[in-house]
Amino acid sequence: MKRRDFLRHATAAAALPLVRIQGSPAPLRANADRLNGWLTRFGAVGRTGGGINRVAYSDGDLAGRAFTLDLFRQADLGPRIDPAGNIVGRLPGNDDALPPILIGSHVDSVPDGGNFDGPLGSFAAIEVARSLREQGVRLRHPLEVVVWSNEEGGVIGSKLAVGDHAGVDLDGVARSGKTIREGIGVVGGSVERLAEAVRPAGSATCYLELHIEQGGLLDQVGLRIGVVQGIVGLRWFDVTITGFANHAGTTPMDQRQDAMLAAARFTVAVNDAVRAQPGRQVATVGRIVASPNTRNVIPGEVLVTVDLRDLDRAVLDRFSATFERLGHEIGAATGTTFRFTPATSSEPAPADPRIMDWVDASAAALGLSRRRMPSGAGHDAQELARIAPMGMIFVPSVNGISHSPREFTRPEDVANGADVLLNAVVAADRGLDTLAPRR
Ligand SMILES: [Zn+2]
Repeated sequence: MKRRDFLRHATAAAALPLVRIQGSPAPLRANADRLNGWLTRFGAVGRTGGGINRVAYSDGDLAGRAFTLDLFRQADLGPRIDPAGNIVGRLPGNDDALPPILIGSHVDSVPDGGNFDGPLGSFAAIEVARSLREQGVRLRHPLEVVVWSNEEGGVIGSKLAVGDHAGVDLDGVARSGKTIREGIGVVGGSVERLAEAVRPAGSATCYLELHIEQGGLLDQVGLRIGVVQGIVGLRWFDVTITGFANHAGTTPMDQRQDAMLAAARFTVAVNDAVRAQPGRQVATVGRIVASPNTRNVIPGEVLVTVDLRDLDRAVLDRFSATFERLGHEIGAATGTTFRFTPATSSEPAPADPRIMDWVDASAAALGLSRRRMPSGAGHDAQELARIAPMGMIFVPSVNGISHSPREFTRPEDVANGADVLLNAVVAADRGLDTLAPRR
């Protein structure tokens, strides 16, 4: 540390009523009862017979946002709606000119969804800001709490906030029936001023998001905290397999060009290839369209889809090439041809190693078991990773259920997640003081 930085850091630390440097024996605690109380009450907002229905831009979403805005106001965070429809609140820092630390999540849901996917991280972020103020802990950086709009419809609010306007079709119709353009207006944004919502690269110190795991790994092995290594990237392919449609009764078995048989072999080959290698890569053949799709005709053409995901771009590229090779081999063996067409792809969003360390250390200080793991689901954090160092904290989803009214996270895990977020924010505030500039 340079002498000037040391003095600045020492002065800032001396001014704090409570000096909690990372590694101190007394980690901070959020108000777990208050946070769980908010989540319980929120479970009645947008609830229908099918589950939670706070689909972006719907009446349920508007009710959820009104509830959330009230929590921002109670925490004295002076909420505003940015032009992309995101709710933004702010806790000033001792050096308020520094780029803010961002924390948050979303409160919209899928149709017939659950009450924890999104609201947990959003309300925990509000609770963290409120706890810091109540406990007299001043951060050097300002802390911004952001509830991103329309996460479930394709991380729309966070995409617009990082300036990816090309990635958002404003005239696309959202699940609510409104276009995204209309929806942004309904929630208090303004498509004419979208440029003002953009946070350029480097304009945030870091982004941290608490979220339910949505898978069953933590729950199965009884671990309390997931330290997220990043959000997996994906490659989607359409694979068209062409054979020759012919009579199912008169064509001998050794003279067929059966596209369905080739598709079946390919499906098995993709699964075998992925499982034969160490790592956490996953691939799925999820859709099949056979033609002519008739009982007594050998299928002449079959379309299958491939969904491939991993944290490492090189792994994605390697398996993409492997699948093509396997397809051509199976084609040669079955008298069919394989044509691969890339559909959607997205790049992996790795978490920042320093933030992973702070999340890990915060969980350790709280005595919580933990493991590092990728996120197989998409999150707003993947977009924020484009402009700032990113990290995520997972807590267990009971039985790994999510996007369902049966989605549940235990109150003690809600509390643990908020505590880890709180201490990780403090660690980031201090840690980024003492590390070399990252740009
Ligand atoms: Zn979510």
